[in-house]
Amino acid sequence: MLNIVLFGPPGSGKGTQATKLVEKYNLVHLSTGDIFRANIKGETDLGKLAKSYLDKGQLVPDEVTIDILQSEATKHTTAEGFIFDGFPRTITQAEALDKYLASRNTSVTMMLSLEVPEEELRKRLLLRGKDSGRADDQNPEVIQNRIDIYHRDTAPAKEFYTAQKKYRAINGVGEIETIFQALCSEINSVQHS
Ligand code: AMP
Repeated sequence: MLNIVLFGPPGSGKGTQATKLVEKYNLVHLSTGDIFRANIKGETDLGKLAKSYLDKGQLVPDEVTIDILQSEATKHTTAEGFIFDGFPRTITQAEALDKYLASRNTSVTMMLSLEVPEEELRKRLLLRGKDSGRADDQNPEVIQNRIDIYHRDTAPAKEFYTAQKKYRAINGVGEIETIFQALCSEINSVQHS
């Protein structure tokens, strides 16, 4: 299986690139943010719980997030691989993902990390807020909170994958197609090794 952790701060282009990668490599796209938003829209119990965190730009607790990710992944028994988009966001989640994949006799192939300077992230998120109507993209304080939480709780996951020699940094500024090609060449390098 090809299991890609697509990593990066909010606004780094994970969703955009995940959509392209899924198509090219025939993978299942698992975005915890999308799962939470669908549940909020559907007014499920999970949605009611998640909403309070998403509105403030805080992380949904690990237990809840890990559970939902595993139950979504388990629906895909014949997948050729996964793109994990927005997961893991903490070391605890990264450890849980390793365990889960091991139970399926597989593992994370690599973490591809989209690197984008903070100033650019703020600009992109505000712009996305205007187009998409995402509430958490419209408030500069919530945006800053998400960026701060990324640095504090999420960025340490890079070291987790560096220790496993699976971390690859990709420049996330430029044309969508150029960034996509850079991601593909990293993936192709392991596929052909
Ligand atoms: P995203 O669409 O990935 O930017 O996620 C939107 C929001 O969903 C985040 O700001 C968090 O509130 C929540 N969220 C998404 N993924 C996770 C995760 N792996 N752990 C905790 N919270 C998450």
